[in-house]
Amino acid sequence: MKRYALVTGASRGIGRAIAIELAKDGCSILLNYKSNRAAAEEAKRLIEEAGGEAELMPFDVSQPDAINAALDAWFAAHPNDYIDVLVNNAGIRKDGLMVFMTDEDWHDVLSSATDGFFYTTRRVLQGMLYAHRGRIVNITSIAGIYGTQGQANYSAAKAAVIGATKALSKEMAARNITVNAVAPGYITTDMTADLDVAELKKTIPAGRLGTPEEVAHLVSFLCSDKTSYITGQVISVAGGLG
Ligand code: NAP
Repeated sequence: MKRYALVTGASRGIGRAIAIELAKDGCSILLNYKSNRAAAEEAKRLIEEAGGEAELMPFDVSQPDAINAALDAWFAAHPNDYIDVLVNNAGIRKDGLMVFMTDEDWHDVLSSATDGFFYTTRRVLQGMLYAHRGRIVNITSIAGIYGTQGQANYSAAKAAVIGATKALSKEMAARNITVNAVAPGYITTDMTADLDVAELKKTIPAGRLGTPEEVAHLVSFLCSDKTSYITGQVISVAGGLG
């Protein structure tokens, strides 16, 4: 039986590296993205080049109706399958001091993280419960553990997902479904392209930013059969930051 892995925000950055790694582990990838079809096609090509397989599944994780429509369509086309691995990775940042933060910047960042987590996971859980098996990994951030100035929205969003990870892990522990969070520090992707890397490096004990692959290796481990007794944890990949 095929093992399906849904990775949200898999067209670029950390999500793409995770999708490639899970494909190498033998998962058939459901490759979610929001709007960058060219990047999604390139990610699919890289997965196939690595010997894996992927299908594109675009939807906006901040839109519950879009999530439900995409997943309902997939389950209708795959009546005997379920999604065994879910990585809630899609996310955005819209930084600014909170005193100047707009309603839109607050809600956009919160809804991408929390609605994305809630609606996607709730729909995928049904199949995992029936199969009595599943792996869920939520990509949060060290901002959600420690808080980052200029990122009240982002820190709140990531902290919310950490709380939900812990609660859901307890609900699912006896059902052979693990739920963990991975909290990256600064990773080289499009999301960090506008940051002052030279200044940032001075604050990171490892003296460098991380790579998407360094996050993906941990996610691959957490999604494997080797981790059946690890659940409700938040693991940082941050080069000693924090
Ligand atoms: P990125 O390079 O900006 O890529 C973002 C990905 O998410 C893209 O695939 C994008 O799709 C997708 N996406 C954005 N909004 C979406 C939406 N509403 N619905 C569906 N997909 C959406 O970001 P990244 O650096 O890889 O970050 C990935 C995750 O890691 C995020 O949750 C981020 O908060 C977290 N993180 C990153 C860092 C870091 O330093 N990079 C640190 C800590 C945590 P399109 O290509 O279609 O736009």
